[in-house]
Amino acid sequence: MYNETIQNIRESLRADCTKCFGLCCTALNIAASSDFPINKPAGTPCVNLQSNYSCQIHSDLRERGFKGCTVFDCLGAGQVVSQVIFKGQSWRGYPEIREKMFRVFPVMEQIHEMIAYTAEALSYDIPRALSDQLSVQLKELQNLTKLEAEQLLSADLVMYRFPLNKLLSETSKYIRESLIAKLPNAKNGKNYSHERADWIGKKLRGKDLRAINLRGAYLIAADMSNADLRGVDFIGADLRDANLTGANLSTSMFVTQMQINSTKGDGKTILPSHIQRPSHWVQ
Ligand code: SF4
Repeated sequence: MYNETIQNIRESLRADCTKCFGLCCTALNIAASSDFPINKPAGTPCVNLQSNYSCQIHSDLRERGFKGCTVFDCLGAGQVVSQVIFKGQSWRGYPEIREKMFRVFPVMEQIHEMIAYTAEALSYDIPRALSDQLSVQLKELQNLTKLEAEQLLSADLVMYRFPLNKLLSETSKYIRESLIAKLPNAKNGKNYSHERADWIGKKLRGKDLRAINLRGAYLIAADMSNADLRGVDFIGADLRDANLTGANLSTSMFVTQMQINSTKGDGKTILPSHIQRPSHWVQ
């Protein structure tokens, strides 16, 4: 697919909180933790949400213990639900739509997440048969975003998730195997498959991890500083507090803004071009 189209899709998945009715701060259930100091039930506005739907502690969320809020990324679902599905009617102004709006938000979030992964897969140089299937999947997902609220609530997203996961796995395998074939240690029996690995706190500083499959891996607080992470598949990996200072993720696959927001990094960390450098990282 043309890079320009992928770029447009990525732009449409960028959250614009000014067009959202504070849905992540209201619709979601958030249990008290080290990332969020209070219990906030689903459908209840956070105590810090102001009447104009902005956050009154936005500038010092981390200092106040609300680190989780600086990590979260709705991938633009909030503005689509607020402005497109509910046509600019807010849950405060129209209490009768409140419950439905809060239920639609997490559904749209999941659809946007699948669109983001599909668009990324289509950005790679992959066989035509695979890109054709991904293009069909993308169209179906984009059509979902145009449904009415009731239709969205009755959509079976599992029907989309399973085939997409298969296509993403095939994309990852193709790209990583192409890279592995070019690596000097390609034939020395190195294990590139670490799907769902428990690497919590693991010391991987400076390691060459290129092309490794880390789908769904537990990498909490892992030290990957100065590691070479090009071509690593990070889909679904838990990267909370992982140390990425000086690491090279320039061609890491299926790594999301939310995953990166949960890590530690610095000005030397090299990120994929579509990922923004978190403001809390050391510069
Ligand atoms: S602290 Fe601010 S950003 Fe976090 S949920 Fe509450 S209002 Fe939203």
